[in-house]
Amino acid sequence: MTTVGQLINGEITVEGTRQQAIYNPSTGEISKQVDLASKKTVEEAIAVAQAAFPAWRNTPAIKRARVMFKFKALLEEHAETICTLIGEEHGKISHDAAGELQRGIENVEYACGAPELLKGEHSKNVGPNIDSWSEFQPLGVVAGITPFNFPAMVPLWMYPMALVCGNCFILKPSERDPSATLFIAQLLKEAGLPDGVMSVINGDKEAVDTLLNDERIKAISFVGSTPIAEYIYATANGNGKRCQALGGAKNHAIVMPDADMDNAVNQLLGAAFGSSGERCMALSVAVAVGDVAGDALIGKMQAAMQSLNVGPHFDANNDFGPVITQAHQQKVIAYIDSAEQQGAKIVVDGRHAKVLGFENGFFVGATLIDDVSPDMVSYKEEIFGPVLQVVRVQTMQQAMDLIDAHEYGNGTCIFTRDGEAARYFSDNIQVGMVGINVPLPVPVAYHSFGGWKRSLFGDLHAYGPDAVRFYTKRKTITQRWPSAGVREGAEFSMPTMK
Ligand code: NAD
Repeated sequence: MTTVGQLINGEITVEGTRQQAIYNPSTGEISKQVDLASKKTVEEAIAVAQAAFPAWRNTPAIKRARVMFKFKALLEEHAETICTLIGEEHGKISHDAAGELQRGIENVEYACGAPELLKGEHSKNVGPNIDSWSEFQPLGVVAGITPFNFPAMVPLWMYPMALVCGNCFILKPSERDPSATLFIAQLLKEAGLPDGVMSVINGDKEAVDTLLNDERIKAISFVGSTPIAEYIYATANGNGKRCQALGGAKNHAIVMPDADMDNAVNQLLGAAFGSSGERCMALSVAVAVGDVAGDALIGKMQAAMQSLNVGPHFDANNDFGPVITQAHQQKVIAYIDSAEQQGAKIVVDGRHAKVLGFENGFFVGATLIDDVSPDMVSYKEEIFGPVLQVVRVQTMQQAMDLIDAHEYGNGTCIFTRDGEAARYFSDNIQVGMVGINVPLPVPVAYHSFGGWKRSLFGDLHAYGPDAVRFYTKRKTITQRWPSAGVREGAEFSMPTMK
């Protein structure tokens, strides 16, 4: 059986002490195993990164950027292999994997602008013959810890920018689908990245805790579930590290009575069920304003859902694939059960989905639940499956209050034809990423990504301009060159511009 190993100092190694099975979620079978790094192996990767740092830090930004230009070309050249690896271990359909990869590549493109992004700020004559400037220096060795649901894109949110800023990087991907992540990282060598500047550590809590507690790690970027995000943020901060920790979500879409209902239904189908709902930006709750909108939404969704195809990742005719593990499949089904037990109405039931020839795959069919209320467990918690819940309210303000009261604040959307309502919504809603008739308002690579409330712990968002700030520290230099013979006496008052 193939063992997915560690990438340290440009070489793949297998420690061989602890392993974990990797499943093909479409078949339900074990396909590979992943090596789980010990503390010792993680420490070795950190030492290698620290040794590589001085030379990489002093490499001109334009040369660091050139690695990214080549890396982008290699990602495009190997796109098919990458998407297959994603599909085999995550289960997402090839067209969805291609979209994920493209979004990742866009972050590499943004990192290609490093010389411009790192230019800094300069002021001449802040005092007589005194100049001052701020420059953005790398932090040193930094780490990223990533979730299973975007094995290509989320790591690419992090290390291209961290590397072009002059840092060395250690990535700890999800142990559930590590192959695409590892394959991509190996391309960096061919792109010209010196060995040791970037390592990939496959592992679990032991590897993560080593990164969190080692003083040589200066910053941690994390993306995953909220309980772990909170733990990572508290521990990293307690250890004096810079940290951004992105967590879970419960994204609501308000469907206003004046919305183009056919359009809203089409958008909701993709945003709720695409990637089996395993997206932190999935729209998992539709809030219908008024009974007319509510009835129309349920009727049209129910009809449209009849033609959805769920099946294995390699068949591009499928709309979405399996969920990640059998345990997760059971968890999603248990949420649907609990909604039913607490009085909601299961309109379309995906609990018994069967895919011919793939009876052991981890499939859950698209599920639509009506009459959901805020006290239900299925409403409060993130399901992370192909389940759309509908809550009915009478006014837009009630819909907004509902969203604001939820512990998560990642993304949201309003479907309406009323510009004034949309403007009020986007201005006031307590959510980090807002769509107006756009169901998945995932910011492009040259903006930054992040939720509010318990969807993000930290100050700076992921990728885009915030990432330049996250992966650098500001140094401000004030300079004067006294001309020969001119000397000033000692000054004891605070220096000011005279
Ligand atoms: P997860 O929290 O289980 O795992 C994320 C990472 O943390 C993995 O690398 C894992 O190995 C590590 N980890 C897990 N348990 C740990 C522990 N006890 N101690 C230390 N490290 C631990 O998340 P997941 O199931 O892989 O991903 C799904 C979650 O990620 C969802 O909640 C989803 O909303 C969230 N997510 C958020 C965003 C965002 O941008 N906000 C993006 C993608 C996914």
